[in-house]
Amino acid sequence: MAFTLAQLPLSPRFSLLHSRFWIETLPTPMPAPHTVALNHALAEELGLVFGDDAADFLLGNRLPQDSQPLASVYSGHQFGVNVPQLGDGRALLIAEFCGLDGAHWEMQLKGAGPTPFSRRGDGRAVLRSSIREYLASEALHHLGIPTTRALAIAGSPQAVWRETRETAAVVTRLAPTFVRFGHFEYFFYQGEPERVRELADWVIAHHYPQCRDASNPYLAMLEQVISRTTTLIAHWQAVGFCHGVMNTDNMSILGLTLDYGPYGFLDGFDAGHICNHSDENGRYAYNQQPQIGLWNLHCLAQSLLPLIEKDALLAALSKYQELFEVAFSEQLRAKLGFAEWIEDDWTLVTDLFELMQTTHTDWTIFWRTLSHWVLQRNDGELSDFFADRMAFLQWLQRYKQRTVDDVTDEERSKKMLTTNPKYILRNYLVEIAIQRAQAGDFSEIERLQQCLTHPFDEQPEHENYAKLPPNWASELSVSCSS
Ligand code: AMP
Ligand code: MG
Repeated sequence: MAFTLAQLPLSPRFSLLHSRFWIETLPTPMPAPHTVALNHALAEELGLVFGDDAADFLLGNRLPQDSQPLASVYSGHQFGVNVPQLGDGRALLIAEFCGLDGAHWEMQLKGAGPTPFSRRGDGRAVLRSSIREYLASEALHHLGIPTTRALAIAGSPQAVWRETRETAAVVTRLAPTFVRFGHFEYFFYQGEPERVRELADWVIAHHYPQCRDASNPYLAMLEQVISRTTTLIAHWQAVGFCHGVMNTDNMSILGLTLDYGPYGFLDGFDAGHICNHSDENGRYAYNQQPQIGLWNLHCLAQSLLPLIEKDALLAALSKYQELFEVAFSEQLRAKLGFAEWIEDDWTLVTDLFELMQTTHTDWTIFWRTLSHWVLQRNDGELSDFFADRMAFLQWLQRYKQRTVDDVTDEERSKKMLTTNPKYILRNYLVEIAIQRAQAGDFSEIERLQQCLTHPFDEQPEHENYAKLPPNWASELSVSCSS
């Protein structure tokens, strides 16, 4: 039976943890709620129907029946520095429920007002950042990348001050759990090993049940987290996604993309691309993401010291590099359309990346065009992407030789076209949707989202979204929390 936001079939889990983990906190109502975006497809999967009063619930002015909203406490390493306490400063867990999809979900309202963990923040999110989170979560999901989901955006004319006056919005987001590495870190640094254990037991029971019977379930859990993190980052690298703020409080214990802030997709390839304007040293640059994943896992592992022998922790972490290489080579194998990956292929891709780096070849368009080249063999079209055409044509020759295997050109091209997306959420596309929304027209959000629901399909009506970005795109800059 379908249900409305008022009637969510609640099924508490996180809120059953000890009260050290959270503080009951009500949303702070805002005037004149309106919906900005509704994800009807996701709602339908869940069995959820948006009623006429949906905006009231999505803004936090009304609550699902029996809901006891709470803010959870966590800490984390921000730009390498341990911050003893962070926590949900503007996100509230308003419901834990079972959907008709058979899954159990945590539902958060992000931007619903101050919490005991807001520190100096106002507990709010602006329309701009809410649109960014909404579109990116859904874009990544449809690219097949693990992520939290976005169900809706609601807005209010209430003023929120950032660099200028903006207006408030709330994203309703969903995940099997929003538990972060930082939740473990908080209790470790507080000297509460019993809470570290309680949380690990909870995560295993609900999210890694396969670890329960291992000789050390906590070690088995860590191994799972390591494996999922490598898979996640390999996906990011393959699609050219830069997270922007890979602090440990933004790292999901389930290996999901979490907390969309100053993220960005690569346009022209630049290995050292920094999408976050505030990240002056490029700690979270595109090519740093894999090793930052490991750094962050070290922080998580340290917090598990009460549960796992140090040597076993280090042994688990020592597998990261190899796991990442396996995961990334799997992505590259598919992007290149090979049946199998061989060691020499690393040289082939490294040489390609060097050529792309020199010309800042558009990441997405290059791979898509290569997927067509396999059938059409239009060397000229591809080599146009490179300043040094001769060098590229030599590379193409090597690639051609490498594609002599059992796979037919038709099959190869078809598979590559389901791996190399035509449509990604380019920064400038989000910017256009934001500008229109700020002027009161939300239709571009919907149009863009519809397109990105099928990123691998040809969509003639959306051809414009697949073009090279305009010149002004390179001047866009995004920085931390908004
Ligand atoms: P972020 O880097 O956006 O993931 O946020 C880091 C920390 O700052 C988290 O604890 C957030 O809850 C908190 N935070 C970010 N923006 C705000 C805000 N406007 N009001 C209160 N807390 C915030
Ligand atoms: Mg965060």
